[in-house]
Amino acid sequence: MSVTDKTAVVTGAASTRGIGRATAHALAAAGWNVAVLDLDEAGAKDAAHEIAERHGVQAVGTACDVTDEASVESALAVLDAALPPVGALVNNAGITSPTPFLEVSGEEWDRIFAVNVRGSFNVTRRLAPGMAERGFGRIVFLSSVSAERGGGVFGGVAYSAAKAAELGFTRALARELGPHGVTVNAVAPGLIDTDITGGALEGERKTALLAGIPVGRNGRVEDVADLITYLCREETGYVTGATYDVNGGSHIS
Ligand code: NAD
Repeated sequence: MSVTDKTAVVTGAASTRGIGRATAHALAAAGWNVAVLDLDEAGAKDAAHEIAERHGVQAVGTACDVTDEASVESALAVLDAALPPVGALVNNAGITSPTPFLEVSGEEWDRIFAVNVRGSFNVTRRLAPGMAERGFGRIVFLSSVSAERGGGVFGGVAYSAAKAAELGFTRALARELGPHGVTVNAVAPGLIDTDITGGALEGERKTALLAGIPVGRNGRVEDVADLITYLCREETGYVTGATYDVNGGSHIS
């Protein structure tokens, strides 16, 4: 058994400076074929093209709104026909919001949960049965330091609650799928340099945050991608239900 005859699905991997695209590259460098699912169809196709060219694996990029079951179904149907069986899923698509609780609306709350939690459910629900049937799978959720610390970087209550929901999801699913050879883990990044805040985290606030990071810099997408790739290895079959911090040591400062 080898990862070269399997596909890793990475959601939200279109963003050029994002964790998802870096992860898709790292997985491809480790031999995985890769499927990129993203709202941004042109970005997903561009990512797949870049990955196939750079790493010599099969890669497909397709439009997908993870919040919409029909969209997930048609995106995964494209993959079923084009790529080897899915052996890994990285639930990376996510959105954040800094809105304080006393100002947050029900619509905004639902939007944050729709992408981060329901989106992960929609894709995982579709892919987990095949993994269990084949007796092998690696599922990784992108949670956040916000889930563990109740915000503190950028995300508000809705984001922190949604990212914490992903931790419960991870642990319960790990329990259920463990006997089928499927591991389920979460990574909890701290401040990573991407476009998720839309440039809203700059200046004094960013300087103050950096002062609280022992490693002395913000995180790079590669820092997170490396960890996810490790968790997806075939050899990493005895690590499950775990949450891995990747935050430059901010918890100890
Ligand atoms: P990003 O904004 O750079 O990329 C997110 C990607 O998700 C984009 O390509 C976007 O098009 C896609 N997306 C958004 N909604 C979608 C939907 N409904 N369906 C499909 N795709 C959708 O974000 P990032 O910073 O790379 O974050 C990736 C993940 O890591 C997220 O889950 C985020 O919550 C988590 N995270 C990020 C940080 C950080 O500091 N950047 C910290 C902790 C956790």
